[in-house]
Amino acid sequence: MHTDPTRVLYISGAGRSGTTVLNGILDTLNGVSAFGEVWHFWKVVQDVDHRCGCRELLADCPLWSPVIEDYPSPDSIREMEGLRLSVGRIRQIWRIGRRSRRDSPELRMFTDAAARIYRTLALHAECATLVDSSKTPAFAMLVGSSPEVSMRIVHLVRDPRAVVASWSRQKQSRGVEHPESLEARSLGHVLREWMFFNTIGLKYLRRRFPTMVVRLEDLVDDPTTTLEAIRGFAGVDATASLVSRDGRVMVGGAHSVAGNPDRFATGSTKLHASEDWRTLLPWWKRLVITVVTYPVMRHYGYL
Ligand SMILES: [Zn+2]
Repeated sequence: MHTDPTRVLYISGAGRSGTTVLNGILDTLNGVSAFGEVWHFWKVVQDVDHRCGCRELLADCPLWSPVIEDYPSPDSIREMEGLRLSVGRIRQIWRIGRRSRRDSPELRMFTDAAARIYRTLALHAECATLVDSSKTPAFAMLVGSSPEVSMRIVHLVRDPRAVVASWSRQKQSRGVEHPESLEARSLGHVLREWMFFNTIGLKYLRRRFPTMVVRLEDLVDDPTTTLEAIRGFAGVDATASLVSRDGRVMVGGAHSVAGNPDRFATGSTKLHASEDWRTLLPWWKRLVITVVTYPVMRHYGYL
């Protein structure tokens, strides 16, 4: 049976770059359903208490339960999680970038399973475009290589000083029964990821897919123009403005399977990019960040 490829708008970017909030905003567009970090599905589904962004248990969510039912047994899910861990390491981008490697039986099996998740979600959500905010370039390279998927990338970049300041705090979801938290990360870890995502990772994505780069700061400063550009890039029909007159945006109750604990925060919100790194970061940290990321920071106008 021939079916059209599933249209996917994939949000890439280093952690704490605004990918979760963009996922929630795009969910409010007509014909679009956002599912958060699909990449983590095989991991989180093994936790029976794990909740979808709609606040239902994942197994009770009307959109994720058909995906779970696709698997004949818990063992088949565990097998996929093992595969995910083995292909998902950052260094695997070198392998994934090569077609011959992508065609290996192991990666083919993983890619087919991921494409099947997209297809099942799009079918049950009856959406024309599906948003996946998995962030990692490796997953996009894999699942986007499936003939069953038509992928476009929105890559979010944020001032690395703000990213480091954000990672220096633990983050916890509010107003939910079982709060989730993201642990703080070290400076080295954050900078390594930021550099990888915004240089090599982005280069690979650009080579393979139509890619749009968006600075989080531009989304915050001028949400109307930036969201309109993303909507046009995604080929989604225009709807009423996503931004109200007072500059607030609606964040939808997306069926986000995983991601930042903020995925439970829905409703009308005013976007803001925290400037507290100016007071929070000691001078030596700012210096290290600037030295390590200098050409990239300049390229994006942060210096
Ligand atoms: Zn749900």
